[in-house]
Amino acid sequence: MDVNARIGAIVDRLAGELIGLRRTIHQHPELAFEEHETAKLVSGYLGRLGIPHRTGVGRTGVVGLLECNGAGRTVAIRADMDALPIHEETNLPFASKLSGKMHACGHDAHTVIALGVAAVLAELKDQLRGRIKLIFQPAEETLGGAPAMIADGVLDNPKPDVILGYHNWPQLPSGKVGYHPEAVMASSDAFGLTIKGVTGHGAHPHLAVDAIAGAAQFVTQVQTVVSRETAPLNPAVITIGQFIGGTARNVIAGTVELKGSVRTLDPPASQRVEAALRRMLDGLKLGMRLDYTLDYRRLTPVLRNNKEMLQRVLSSARDVLGAGNIVEMPQPSMGSEDFAWFAERIPAAHLRIGSKIDGLDTAIHRSNYDCSDQAIAVGVKVVARAALDLLGASEPSVRHS
Ligand code: MN
Repeated sequence: MDVNARIGAIVDRLAGELIGLRRTIHQHPELAFEEHETAKLVSGYLGRLGIPHRTGVGRTGVVGLLECNGAGRTVAIRADMDALPIHEETNLPFASKLSGKMHACGHDAHTVIALGVAAVLAELKDQLRGRIKLIFQPAEETLGGAPAMIADGVLDNPKPDVILGYHNWPQLPSGKVGYHPEAVMASSDAFGLTIKGVTGHGAHPHLAVDAIAGAAQFVTQVQTVVSRETAPLNPAVITIGQFIGGTARNVIAGTVELKGSVRTLDPPASQRVEAALRRMLDGLKLGMRLDYTLDYRRLTPVLRNNKEMLQRVLSSARDVLGAGNIVEMPQPSMGSEDFAWFAERIPAAHLRIGSKIDGLDTAIHRSNYDCSDQAIAVGVKVVARAALDLLGASEPSVRHS
């Protein structure tokens, strides 16, 4: 029996259980670093497969290590587990039971795909060499889970040789897998800014320094960083999403608090944006007598595929689904993904798994989001096969066993 047929037979047998597990997780969504029940479910499943694992890695993460038959490479697979603070509006029989919390990004499906891969490879391990590191990560949505797991040693003992990540994609038909040739998702920077003036009576502006007038000027001026300072084909996004200031109609505001997000596709672009913000704020200081404090943080780097690793993974995926079902995505997403922290340290490939449900107009992070059941089986087949090929686990030895 060939390797696809062997994997396919196992997945056909497991698919119903995996879909059921996804629905269980979907009903009990847990936010970043609160994934206690999800981690228990993952731990229970790995335990039944006889896969040694640790819990509490990066607070609520789980890491399993499947040892195969003899020495070889270490291939890591990463799934994220957290949900979002969104109130679900789907009317699904397995909709969230927790008001205001929802698996609106399909991390429930990602979790069971990795469990399915663990089950498939556990059945085939006697014919494989090396080991599979199964990384169940918390807190992707806040971009804090991957660095927390890395700080907790997830990439040590053993250090993976390669790492595979994936995300479901409701814009892509189920049965297809998408990829980005290099840059997959943007870096994400966050800033908090306090603009400080002097409070005073609304009728006596000459005795005050108006922080609202200054902050309004700043928000307008910031729009020129992208439109007038950044090369048109070098993308950058600057969004100021929060502007809080003032206490009363007739009181000149002494402080305004602003919060913003910056997305770029290369580190120099991010550095240019930060420098421009500081320059404009220094201008405000000189021109409008205001003071400021800027807290600028880099939350996650650009997610880039390792080209050679991606080609190997795509070749496995084409062999599973047929070349016509593997599609290049038109451009990188300006969203961010903390899988980038792993990809900075280890050759990585990241796939989009088509999860479109015919007739459902949705997107990730939307209250009517759902992920097709088919995406789970497709994800398990493709990721398991890619992991198996990356082990270098001679396809022939599986084929002839
Ligand atoms: Mn997501």
